[in-house]
Amino acid sequence: MGFKSYKMIDPFGRKISYLRVSVTDRCDFRCSYCMAEDMDFLPRSEILDLEEIDRVASAFIKRGVDKIRLTGGEPLVRRGIMKLVNSLSRHKKSGALKELTLTTNASQLYRFADDLAGSAIERINVSLDTLNPETFTRLTKNGDHAQVMRGIDAAHKVGLKIKINTVALKGINDNEFDEIINWCGERGFDLTLIETMPMGDIGNLRYDHHLSLSDVRKRLEKNWTMSQSSYSTGGPSKYVDIAETKTKLGFITPLSDHFCDSCNRVRLTCTGTLYMCLGQDASVDLREPLRADPSGEKLASAIESAISNKPKGHDFEIKSGENIPAVARHMSVTGG
Ligand code: SAM
Ligand code: SF4
Repeated sequence: MGFKSYKMIDPFGRKISYLRVSVTDRCDFRCSYCMAEDMDFLPRSEILDLEEIDRVASAFIKRGVDKIRLTGGEPLVRRGIMKLVNSLSRHKKSGALKELTLTTNASQLYRFADDLAGSAIERINVSLDTLNPETFTRLTKNGDHAQVMRGIDAAHKVGLKIKINTVALKGINDNEFDEIINWCGERGFDLTLIETMPMGDIGNLRYDHHLSLSDVRKRLEKNWTMSQSSYSTGGPSKYVDIAETKTKLGFITPLSDHFCDSCNRVRLTCTGTLYMCLGQDASVDLREPLRADPSGEKLASAIESAISNKPKGHDFEIKSGENIPAVARHMSVTGG
């Protein structure tokens, strides 16, 4: 189907071309910076079915979105996820989508690597905060490090391009960055380091583990030959090339150097709520107009009104001794 494309421009002149879709709020891990141990998950009745997600995503593509990332919670624990991937793949084949991609904790990747490689997904982001199995178990609560490694190997073997995302955590993995750079370099994986963001009550003090990546970068510059790279994936990561590994190292620094001026994205939750900014509460319900009007007109006008209300940026700040998140929802609701 050829789509006529309308451009979505927000009040600050930013073109919205990137949709992140959280396909489930559930996850098999409980990463300490992301979730509390006793999370309440949504009842299934509230969650969009896969065809509904496809309809909303397609409405965005029709309005100019050319990049979609499936995320979660853990997208690979959503039953039937490959059905959604395969149906969205038609937009890649038609040329309407430049990229369809996925962020995963890799726990189930060993089961999905072949199918993903056969789909329109060419590149995946894998979240991996440590190479140390004990630290991994402590950080994720119930993650199986060996299974994650098996998944990464399987995806690598079938030719999926992999980027590793590592949240920088003081006292947890800050002694491992050189090893992680080396490990990624040996496999040809790019790596992005991410600052923790104050999202959702996690039952402990985030400040204790918060690390400013500008300090990390200064430290890493002593060990690696880094040069500024013009490479961009359309996301907020700023990259350097590492001469020794011939791979890229990205830094996502929402707190020490925010990137809202060039924000091109909006986020859909699995209940059909659209968040126009990761760090603000403003949202629009798309589920009601989606279900009320099969013609899609109500959905289209809800999307337009949402874009016209996209906030300028977030107000993230992590203060010493404080445990108050900037937004109440956890990252797993909108998927990062
Ligand atoms: N479960 C999948 C995964 O872990 O890749 C996808 C969802 S997860 C919410 C997406 C990304 O958000 C992961 O890279 C994770 O490390 C990151 N993340 C979660 N909570 C965060 C926080 N409070 N601050 C910064 N990054 C966070
Ligand atoms: Fe799950 Fe991803 Fe959050 Fe970890 S970061 S608890 S894997 S959603």
